[in-house]
Amino acid sequence: MLVAKAHERVANARNDFQHKLSRRLVDENQAICVETLKVSNMLKNRRLAKPIADAAWGGLVRKLDYKATWEGKHLVRIDPWYPSTKTCCHCASKMASLPLSARQWTCPTCGAGHDRDINAALNIKQQGILQLKAEGLSVSACGGMHKTGTLPAAACEARSPVL
Ligand SMILES: [Zn+2]
Repeated sequence: MLVAKAHERVANARNDFQHKLSRRLVDENQAICVETLKVSNMLKNRRLAKPIADAAWGGLVRKLDYKATWEGKHLVRIDPWYPSTKTCCHCASKMASLPLSARQWTCPTCGAGHDRDINAALNIKQQGILQLKAEGLSVSACGGMHKTGTLPAAACEARSPVL
């Protein structure tokens, strides 16, 4: 009974957090780019933490989706096979592999130092902007509203531990 109550409280807190975060992201940005999940990897993974994190991510994306639709904004889904983590956001060269333990890495091509998650988020944002441009929409790469009519974009990265 206590365990069930604790689970309910965690679920409610997470739901509340997701509502606040999605509201803020949609309010502050014209476009939000998200990486969709690699479904085959999810099915292979038998540990508990990953499915819970994936369910949380799905919950946040659903909230972003309907809030963005209400506000006439854009939720851009990035192909899960796009190598957002292994690609250098400075020079676009791709690493053959990058172990999960590597939270920081240096690009062997251009020498840029990266935080794993920030690099991936920047790549996802850039991909999202390209997708929007392909649909004929103009979005600024560096956030903030511009007088020229271009609009800011935010990127969310699927491996966020706070969810
Ligand atoms: Zn590089």
